[in-house]
Amino acid sequence: MGFELLRREVIDKNLCCRCGSCAGICPRGNIVFTDTRGACLPQGSGNCPETCDLCGKVCPGGHFDLSPLRQISGLSFATGIGACLNISLLKAADKTLREMSTSGGAVTALLIAFLEKGLIDGVISIGPDPESPTGSAAKILSSAEEIKAHTQSRYCVCPLNQLMPKLEAGKKYALVGLPCMVDGLRNMMEVRESLRGQVVITLGLFCHSTMFYSATEKLLELYRPPVARSSVKNIRYREGKFPGGFAAHDGKGGATEIIPLPDYMQLFNRHSLNRCRLCIDHYSAFSDLAFADPFPFLDELAENDQKWTVAIVRTAAGQKFVNEVLGNDDHVVSKKVTERNIARLNDKLRAIQSVHLKQVAMTKQIGLPAPGYNIPLPRSTLPRAVVNLFRVYLFGNIMLSCRQMLLKVCTLNQAGAAHTKLTKRYKSF
Ligand SMILES: Cc1cc2nc3c(=O)[nH]c(=O)nc-3n(C[C@H](O)[C@H](O)[C@H](O)COP(=O)(O)OP(=O)(O)OC[C@H]3O[C@@H](n4cnc5c(N)ncnc54)[C@H](O)[C@@H]3O)c2cc1C
Repeated sequence: MGFELLRREVIDKNLCCRCGSCAGICPRGNIVFTDTRGACLPQGSGNCPETCDLCGKVCPGGHFDLSPLRQISGLSFATGIGACLNISLLKAADKTLREMSTSGGAVTALLIAFLEKGLIDGVISIGPDPESPTGSAAKILSSAEEIKAHTQSRYCVCPLNQLMPKLEAGKKYALVGLPCMVDGLRNMMEVRESLRGQVVITLGLFCHSTMFYSATEKLLELYRPPVARSSVKNIRYREGKFPGGFAAHDGKGGATEIIPLPDYMQLFNRHSLNRCRLCIDHYSAFSDLAFADPFPFLDELAENDQKWTVAIVRTAAGQKFVNEVLGNDDHVVSKKVTERNIARLNDKLRAIQSVHLKQVAMTKQIGLPAPGYNIPLPRSTLPRAVVNLFRVYLFGNIMLSCRQMLLKVCTLNQAGAAHTKLTKRYKSF
């Protein structure tokens, strides 16, 4: 049955999360992602043997077992912050790297430190597409320079786990990915033991949702002053002071304006994947180390020092890696956070998870496809489910608008009049 089953149960039901695990596990290389700037769905060549069901087994889109009985890397699913041996703020010690990065550049700085200490030989991650800088591509990086060039979040779908067959035997890798990519990798490790020895550490990013390439198209369309598509050399979704914004560079070094993140947050609603709306693992629950923006801790940070990354150590393996580089290394600086803000973050994540769990339950109740998590879901009557589903979407939009307004207030001080001008200009979102 092979790929046909995956098509029927996941792709046709709009539950694919574009993590690339199906392509990465296929022993015959039968599955490819072609339309990466469009729907970016896996395509099968139709030569699957009757007995092979590996792609369906590793796919976290249609089904991801979160029951307490399932231990993944020694972890079972927990709501809120999840498994946490330690939580702190980290930033790259190198000021230039920090300024180039998304939050505090901790992910990039840690990867470079791991590489230089010989803990890993390479990094599996996402960065600019060498064939077209407005696109994103999955790559294996093996030098500090390459890792540095891949700093920054890219809000664009990209099937990372398809790279697994390219890993070299005997080498050790770190994977940086979204929660679905880490979950897909964990599934892959269960069916292909050798991957455990190859991907020795996973760095998971918090992720509320990612977006189709169409969102990048929209950003380029709205970017002022306009940059001809052919002359764009580099795009960055989080340029400038935290939280930063979208910028397109033509490589000539002229003055650049940015579209602030708060101004383009709405794109996440319009261009995100159906599967992201039904995700309850926004916090990379099964990564060794999880990373996030410092929004929950901004009240602990000086206004001119907000570029920090929230870092959660989840596993003993993660702790071992961090211990190797923190304290006796000049790549990363750390800072403690207050218990009060940790508790607030935990409550906030729990609340968001509960809304998403309700969304999954209601989607199922009205007969639409939703992923199976093998955990109890909240129940209500059918008419109530319809009303609630509508309310959740509405509530989600209101929450997003509030967050946007809050972010605008935060960034207004930094960007001042120019920001206000931009906000007006991009009203057309
Ligand atoms: C799509 C997406 C959604 C996110 N949503 C949230 C959120 O809702 N809340 C929150 O707190 N944080 C979110 N993050 C994480 C946050 O934006 C930062 O990535 C995180 O704080 C680490 O910052 P940093 O400066 O340490 O990372 P950097 O040093 O800038 O390094 C970023 C690393 O991420 C890798 N990367 C970039 N894009 C992708 C991608 N699409 N998929 C996989 N790997 C990628 C890069 O290769 C690089 O290694 C999101 C990130 C992404 C990519």
